[in-house]
Amino acid sequence: MSTPLRADLHCHSTISDGTLTPEQVAERAQGRGVQLWALTDHDEVAGQQRAAARARALGMDYLAGVEISITFADTTVHIVGLGVDPENAALVEGLRATREGRDERGREMAAQLEAVGIRGAYEGALRYAGNPALLARPHFARYLVERGVCHEVSEVFRKYLTEGKPGYVPHRWASLADAVHWIRGAGGVAVIAHPGRYRFTANEEYALFTDFKAHGGQGVEVVTGSHTTAEYQEYADMAREFDLAASTGSDFHSPDESHADLGSLPPLPAGLTPIWELLQERIQRAAAH
Ligand code: AMP
Ligand code: MN
Ligand code: MN
Ligand code: MN
Repeated sequence: MSTPLRADLHCHSTISDGTLTPEQVAERAQGRGVQLWALTDHDEVAGQQRAAARARALGMDYLAGVEISITFADTTVHIVGLGVDPENAALVEGLRATREGRDERGREMAAQLEAVGIRGAYEGALRYAGNPALLARPHFARYLVERGVCHEVSEVFRKYLTEGKPGYVPHRWASLADAVHWIRGAGGVAVIAHPGRYRFTANEEYALFTDFKAHGGQGVEVVTGSHTTAEYQEYADMAREFDLAASTGSDFHSPDESHADLGSLPPLPAGLTPIWELLQERIQRAAAH
């Protein structure tokens, strides 16, 4: 049997809410044995040229990626796009529109934190945002750790910034249909990110998978840093039931915060179609020169 390809097709840089630059993420991925890599920043493709260039210099195959925030059944869901053309005009414009409400949401989050005695969170979070157009909850979490309000980022997400806690501001993101169409229109493949993380009823989850397929979605993350090993099996079964290809990625954000490091996860369960089988022509080969 051949060795499984070591792929990591979900992670973040300073272009969104990660703490390493695209080049640093590339170097860490390559250093940890990743052979096929995709940088998938939230709602932004501005890091793609840098990521692809460093991947090529390091001898790693590369897929251009993005993780789009959508709202489905009043819940925030993430759709990963792989193999997209980062210069596609409709994708770039759709992502710009998706990012638009983040600054205002950040101001409202800060107002809520101020009401419980935590001052300066908007300005503080912005200092952690490598890209001010992509102000995200981890930037607030890092500021709360800096201030000594919590010991670590995961504690912040238990006590603040999530539903029912101070600093949580509900937000309406893109639609499922738009996200899948932007990705497909840019030549990519759409993937449901970390399905085990959403608190859906069985009916809502079934509706997500059914609608996703109907709009042209083709993949689901099975092995991800956000899933337990039991969920690897659960979503392998869902991939078979819905005839979706399987993807894998650490969802790495930071050496200090992330649950799974780059390239650290086990291979996909046998009997699934790996997502890269759908993307052979979109893989930017490293070796050519
Ligand atoms: P936003 O897009 O601004 O709502 O921020 C979402 C990001 O917050 C996710 O992509 C994760 O990076 C991070 N996040 C969400 N929930 C948690 C959690 N429970 N623990 C750590 N990070 C989290
Ligand atoms: Mn994130
Ligand atoms: Mn996500
Ligand atoms: Mn992610």
